[in-house]
Amino acid sequence: ATAKPVNFIAKVITEDLENGKHSNIVTRFPPEPNGYLHIGHAKSICLNFGLAEQFGGQCNLRFDDTNPEKEEDEYVNSIKEDVSWLGFQWAGEIHYTSDYFDQLHDWAVHLIKEGKAYVCELSPEQAKEYRGSFDEPGKNSPFRDRSVEENLELFAKMRAGDFDEGKASLRAKIDMASPNMNMRDPVIYRIKKAHHHQTGDKWCIYPSYDFAHGQSDAIEGITHSVCTLEFADHRPLYDWFIENLPTPAEPHQYEFGRLNINYMVTSKRKLRALVEGGVVAGWDDPRMPTISGMRRRGYTPTAIRNFCDSLAVAKTDGTVDIAQLEHFIRDDLNQNAPRAMCVINPLKVVISNLSDDHEETFSVPYMQDREDLGQREMPFTKELFIDQADFKEEYSKKFKKKFCVGKRIRLRHGYVLEADGFEKDADGNITQVNATLIEDTLGKDPADGDKPKGVVHWVSAKHAKEAELRTYDRLFLDANPDSGKKDFMESINPESLIVKTGLIEPALANVESETVFQFEREGYYVADRKDHTADKPVFNLTIGLRADKAL
Ligand code: ATP
Ligand code: MG
Ligand code: MG
Repeated sequence: ATAKPVNFIAKVITEDLENGKHSNIVTRFPPEPNGYLHIGHAKSICLNFGLAEQFGGQCNLRFDDTNPEKEEDEYVNSIKEDVSWLGFQWAGEIHYTSDYFDQLHDWAVHLIKEGKAYVCELSPEQAKEYRGSFDEPGKNSPFRDRSVEENLELFAKMRAGDFDEGKASLRAKIDMASPNMNMRDPVIYRIKKAHHHQTGDKWCIYPSYDFAHGQSDAIEGITHSVCTLEFADHRPLYDWFIENLPTPAEPHQYEFGRLNINYMVTSKRKLRALVEGGVVAGWDDPRMPTISGMRRRGYTPTAIRNFCDSLAVAKTDGTVDIAQLEHFIRDDLNQNAPRAMCVINPLKVVISNLSDDHEETFSVPYMQDREDLGQREMPFTKELFIDQADFKEEYSKKFKKKFCVGKRIRLRHGYVLEADGFEKDADGNITQVNATLIEDTLGKDPADGDKPKGVVHWVSAKHAKEAELRTYDRLFLDANPDSGKKDFMESINPESLIVKTGLIEPALANVESETVFQFEREGYYVADRKDHTADKPVFNLTIGLRADKAL
């Protein structure tokens, strides 16, 4: 097992194993398939699957599908893909809360028979009024004292579709005066005449989250049911159901703080609004904090997992600086991304002492000392492109690493050149540099001792390919778009996507989608998962090279 920072849940588990309460650990990740997973879910995934790994147990993937109108197979599929991509394997088959609808229904009947649940016909507005408020106890529903027989009959009618939506619900009979609002006779079944993505039209009544969750945990033998803090107030209800039903096990719920990251929103509802409002191109737009968006951006599973593992598992919600996430992205890419060359603002260099048809090929490793990353062929010809910023019209000490007339520069993985002159267009822009190749300088300093101070990236003018570069920046300008002080849609960064063209070395056209490169001196770029092809290469900016450098 890998060493993870000790968190309070790991402590509980350690104790439970030591004192024999459990001999095997079972956790679960229980998303509702009503949208794509985001970075907050990644934390929950890393925690739940991580605990199972750490303690030699298992983690289930369970779709918590009790709201048929909002749930779709598209989301089920994307969630499975995201969990696998992060590198986790769920135990056995995938579970659905809907697999347990028969059992949950029987348990609802059980509660009715015990006199612990009743069919209530208050309208939603009345029910709200009867519920009271935080500083005012609720009132008993006039339907609370129905007989068991009447409740059984009415619940059967609910199930048969004899009531319209909103006309009746099944409620647990607990305590309308409880200071905990969740204990004031919560609804456990409601009528929804909706098609369900798993059970089709079998049901027109569906269990509430609270009635389904703990019981599903019990059915699956979950030992530690980990959820976010907003469910802390639901724990007494979770326990009440487990106590009052003949469940096969007695799981426990533990809560930890939600992950929020500045400059991001982590709520499916808001992410959906960005997609449906056309602000982004889809759930997997590289600017989205979704797992599929981060994937398309070039973030790696390792980086995301390292980030999640670095976070405290706290009993309070917290906001993490986006720089912390970016640190882990850079850290992984710096160690593992192959290096290659792309010129974004091209300036032509013509080498006067080479023939027009000069062709030479350098075999260059993608990274020093990383043979596993392979190598590529870099064609070298009389005409090259370097970046405009690497040539200066006039020499100054500040620019001593730059190319300028009478000075030398080394082509990365290539020869040393000396600039002889340059040409300008009518507007005064430099359009071409004329240079001389210094002989015998491949991997060697010039024999005359005049060493170049700088190294520049370059491509062969004849062989370079054009690539679309999608330059992404933060989606929000406001550090706290989710604060609720203003509409999060108002702080969208209008320049979060700028499309540029770059000239890439030819080998890069043929790379596999999703390979992330360090374009030397430019940034980390990934071959787009969907749009990159050899004929039309497309790269997305994953992240800049340094935290202090603007994109
Ligand atoms: P959202 O509010 O974005 O819709 P959710 O909590 O409703 O998210 P679920 O699909 O119900 O989403 O969540 C699945 C699991 O992921 C739950 O256990 C939930 O507590 C956890 N989770 C969701 N968001 C976060 C977050 N920001 N940080 C940590 N865990 C999260
Ligand atoms: Mg939810
Ligand atoms: Mg939610």
